[in-house]
Amino acid sequence: MKVCLFGSQGKVGSVLGPGLEQAGHGVVDGRSAGPAGCDAAVDFTRPDAVAANAEACFAAGVPLVVGTTGFDTSALDAAASSAGIACLHVPNFSLGAGLMMRFAEEAARVFPAAEIVELHADTKVDAPSGTAKATAERMGGGVPIHSVRLPGLVAHQVVVFGGPGETLTIRHDTSSREAFVPGVLRALDAVRTLPPGLTVGLDE
Ligand code: NAP
Repeated sequence: MKVCLFGSQGKVGSVLGPGLEQAGHGVVDGRSAGPAGCDAAVDFTRPDAVAANAEACFAAGVPLVVGTTGFDTSALDAAASSAGIACLHVPNFSLGAGLMMRFAEEAARVFPAAEIVELHADTKVDAPSGTAKATAERMGGGVPIHSVRLPGLVAHQVVVFGGPGETLTIRHDTSSREAFVPGVLRALDAVRTLPPGLTVGLDE
């Protein structure tokens, strides 16, 4: 597959590009080459860059996988639907994060109270993280989220449940951005057969 990668020089993009090539895909840089002629595109940029990149993909008839977080997805849904192109937004591509969200959803049915602490590199521009918001939503909403931004961190989340005389802690740590590559490969397969408009999340 020929993949247009927006954000190829970024922290995720610089690991993802070689990962896609290793899996047998051709990769072109979204900023310099644009999406025309590509089979699919991937965006790992900034919240304020997604709309224009998506517009270019939809105008070129190219389905889009979005990993960027921290923006309102309703405009993306409207743009993808009116163009008749599929767009897949996945707030966290790592395997463990998906499991963490599933386990947190299950524990929330049992424990009366919970809070989320999400910890990321100080370069992350949005807070709270997309993963923390998605986790809170799956837990039924109204869960307090605490955000930590420090150098040395990659992406980490702790969900602490409290009940009479006990706590339960579910923790996920991403130590390398390689963790996102298999999920992006699955998303690229999935987006080619999804209906037009926005789909959020990958099936676990
Ligand atoms: P980053 O290191 O800041 O990289 C972003 C890259 O995007 C930079 O190289 C930047 O280039 C480039 N860029 C900015 N505007 C652009 C545009 N209009 N077109 C093309 N490229 C553009 O950020 P990151 O850590 O890689 O993360 C990127 C995004 O992915 C963030 O929103 C982050 O929260 C999210 N993320 C999601 C997941 C997930 O699993 N879904 C995992 C990790 C991160 P310049 O610096 O030259 O502008």
